[in-house]
Amino acid sequence: MPLIHANGLEKTYRLGRVDVPALRGADCDIEAGEFVAITGPSGSGKSTLMHILGCLDTPTAGRYELDGEDVSRLRGKTLAHVRNRKVGFVFQTFNLMPRLNVLENVALPLQYRGGIPRAERKSRARAILARLGMGDRMDHRPDELSGGERQRVAIARALVGEPAILMADEPTGNLDSQSGAEVMKTFRELHEAGHTILLVTHDANVAAEAHRTIHISDGRVV
Ligand code: ADP
Repeated sequence: MPLIHANGLEKTYRLGRVDVPALRGADCDIEAGEFVAITGPSGSGKSTLMHILGCLDTPTAGRYELDGEDVSRLRGKTLAHVRNRKVGFVFQTFNLMPRLNVLENVALPLQYRGGIPRAERKSRARAILARLGMGDRMDHRPDELSGGERQRVAIARALVGEPAILMADEPTGNLDSQSGAEVMKTFRELHEAGHTILLVTHDANVAAEAHRTIHISDGRVV
């Protein structure tokens, strides 16, 4: 059974009295261990699809099974519970907490999850940071790091809860080309280590790093 099985996903946003169809029957399957890029022109529905697959949003119609569980009808706290356990998210703008240091940022998702003692939260955060080559930056605040380093901290934060899939929305969009290349190297290494990775990009060089591309046009997978 695929890790992600989505069938006929539709999403219509309502803007005042106007319906904006963002997805018009998108299908996609992703197996555990795959490295997949979602590509397509601006406005084609990439972010909408990613947000539904990442349990940040819900489809208007269609069926979505994540890791064998039908999550299409889940809402609110129940959906958040699935998201917290199954999905690690990386954003274009890093979204780190400016007042927390690197170690505290990475440990934070484990605090939200609850039931994990503080010492264990810290040791798990330390281990993942060391693995991503950020072991000597744990006491720094985000504004003391380069863009590439911040994104690696964000990747560590996404991974600390051992999600089934790592998702990234334009993860190199705010980085210079060298930092972007370093971040993509991190994704490549994580994939080689067995992680399942799904990223959204309009950058052909970034998409070329993935092993498979899902192309979206006008709200459908083509
Ligand atoms: P992409 O990521 O490929 O640029 P999006 O998924 O962001 O595409 O958007 C697809 C379509 O849905 C676009 O027409 C966009 O304007 C519209 N859209 C996206 N988010 C919203 C929203 N929250 N409210 C209304 N329309 C939206």
